[in-house]
Amino acid sequence: MELTFLGTSAGVPTRRRNVSALALRPRQSSDWLLFDCGEATQHQIMKTPLSLYHLRRIFITHLHGDHVYGLFGLLASRGMLLCEGPLEVYGPSGLKEMLRTVMDLSQLRLPYELTVREITADQILEFDDYRIETVALSHSITCYGYVYTESDRPGRFDPDKARRLGVPEGPLFGRLQQGESVTLPDGCRVESRDVMGAPRPGRRVLIGGDNDRPELFAPYRGADLMIHEATYLQKDFDRLPRKFRHTTARQLGKAAAEMKIKRLAATHFSARYDSEEKMIEIEREIRENYRGELILASDLMRIEL
Ligand SMILES: [Zn+2]
Ligand SMILES: [Zn+2]
Repeated sequence: MELTFLGTSAGVPTRRRNVSALALRPRQSSDWLLFDCGEATQHQIMKTPLSLYHLRRIFITHLHGDHVYGLFGLLASRGMLLCEGPLEVYGPSGLKEMLRTVMDLSQLRLPYELTVREITADQILEFDDYRIETVALSHSITCYGYVYTESDRPGRFDPDKARRLGVPEGPLFGRLQQGESVTLPDGCRVESRDVMGAPRPGRRVLIGGDNDRPELFAPYRGADLMIHEATYLQKDFDRLPRKFRHTTARQLGKAAAEMKIKRLAATHFSARYDSEEKMIEIEREIRENYRGELILASDLMRIEL
């Protein structure tokens, strides 16, 4: 699968970072999913190989503007481009009313089928090749995280096993790998499942919205990748006269270490950190506790998993 950060700034865009949005293209798929849709997400999409024609589902974490104000423009543009494939939008309660109001007032008619589903906590949404679970997060308004889990992947072809069963190396190997059964020169049949290893569990990605308690993802410890906000450095957060419900870099590093997350991508940085030096400070704070692979997200960065 492939993930593309479309926006990594918190609250307001900066010259280098747009507000929140993340694209996820599942393994072997041209269709893709969008998580959050801050203003100007459609402009960011134009800078990537992703196309609105293949956008299939949108998941909104919460209704703060920096996560959702790009939705109306994106839906309208997808209509103007005459994309006909249906589109599903998932998000918290209030999303339907928000969309209906904007669409009614601006008399927006879409040439495609739009389904809006309001979610609750601990839901499991099953799709063809993956499932998505919803996690209630802790923020100033209702906010959900999404847990993306791939279906189990087929086992790997075992060439030694094939040789032991008398399969000659060559085209028959390829056919067995494709799931076909083959007949050997001596008339024996070999089934594909005889030469494939056990299925491998699908990979899991935790996608946080805004949240001041990253440990809420603890039921998914050991996940392959966690994408989570690290809005502030601890020292700046401690000095804030009014506390916003966000995670600090130190807190994220600690939680990710405790949850044994394999790869951590920090994002949603306060606009005050719009420099390389500040990113080094954020990295240092996360690294006080977290030893796994660490990514500090930047706009248009892609991760292959
Ligand atoms: Zn935000
Ligand atoms: Zn928020």
